[in-house]
Amino acid sequence: MLLFTPGPTPVPERVRQAMALPTIHHRTPEFTKIFLETRELLLELFKMKEVIMLASTGTGAMEACVTNLCKKKALVVNAGKFGERFGKIAKAFGKEVVELQYPWDTPAQISDVEKALKDNPDIDAFFIQICESSGGLRHPVEDIAATIKAINPEICVVADGITAVGVEPIDITNIDALIAGSQKALMLPPGLAMIGLSSLALQKIGTGSGFYFNLASELKKQKEGTTAYTAATTLIIGLKEILQIMLKEVGIEEIYDQTDRRATATRVALEAIGLQIYPKKPANAMTAIYDEDAETIRKILKNRYKVNVAGGQEDLKGKLFRINHMGLIEPNEAMWVVNSVEKTLADLGRIEYRGVAAKIFTELYYNEE
Ligand SMILES: *Cc1c(COP(=O)(O)O)cnc(C)c1O
Repeated sequence: MLLFTPGPTPVPERVRQAMALPTIHHRTPEFTKIFLETRELLLELFKMKEVIMLASTGTGAMEACVTNLCKKKALVVNAGKFGERFGKIAKAFGKEVVELQYPWDTPAQISDVEKALKDNPDIDAFFIQICESSGGLRHPVEDIAATIKAINPEICVVADGITAVGVEPIDITNIDALIAGSQKALMLPPGLAMIGLSSLALQKIGTGSGFYFNLASELKKQKEGTTAYTAATTLIIGLKEILQIMLKEVGIEEIYDQTDRRATATRVALEAIGLQIYPKKPANAMTAIYDEDAETIRKILKNRYKVNVAGGQEDLKGKLFRINHMGLIEPNEAMWVVNSVEKTLADLGRIEYRGVAAKIFTELYYNEE
């Protein structure tokens, strides 16, 4: 079975082997060495002033950013389940919330952000997804962040990059907190989250807020090569191994380039067989296809062609299927996916199978080198 869901993604063999070694104690020089090496690699990936690892899923890092970086009022972009989640977290912690809501296929507009800031001068933090995974949508985060900083440089810009870090280059110039999660582009099992932080973010954190997710106490320990509470040792060992592969062996630029070619080739191939790309501005992390037969297509893909892709959520349940591009993926596997989609449409009697999708994918993937 090919796992082509946009999280969790397959864990490379070498990373699984590294995580299979006997457990070591977290308060030892052996683990501190691994921890500090992992921190260095993460700083290289994030290209930010500081970085922090949390033993939680991505949502925990989202919560930590809300509680540590928003004092009073949050501006939140909601164009899907994950944007909606930022608003829910902020409300759960008694913050005031201004929400900019968009259909799941529509990127946030700079003019709406400008207006919201004008109407609410007490907003002190902004929250957005780089890729909103609900619809595979890419928000213009860098441009919005630049606009916000031009209006008020004190506003903390928090970008959920869980399906963007390790997928595509991100301009962090105006981003104060950048969130990543283990089970998406970092090809690890779920359970670890990371946050890159700017100088402004460090200043805003001050003595921190909350207890388990107090970023000040956590960061103090992490700079010393340990964690405030028991470290997620196995996952951190896996993280070190995957970052070694991504940054030192394959090369991050090469990964961005491969992902871009894979995403572009997939989109063009699927459009060529009559399918409709869902978001107005697709992210490279995944291809989301809107189709009334999405559920049947997913079933045939899984049962007949052994390809597991994700569906849609809420209003898009049964209407969407999402193909992952994150991680290190062999082109022959990605080609098999678009080929299987074409064959599936033929099985449904919608088109005649001609091998068009695989041909276009292969040509585009290798011609753009
Ligand atoms: C997966 C994901 C999350 C976090 O989900 P968890 O289940 O808590 O790991 C957050 N934001 C985006 C954009 C995601 O894709």
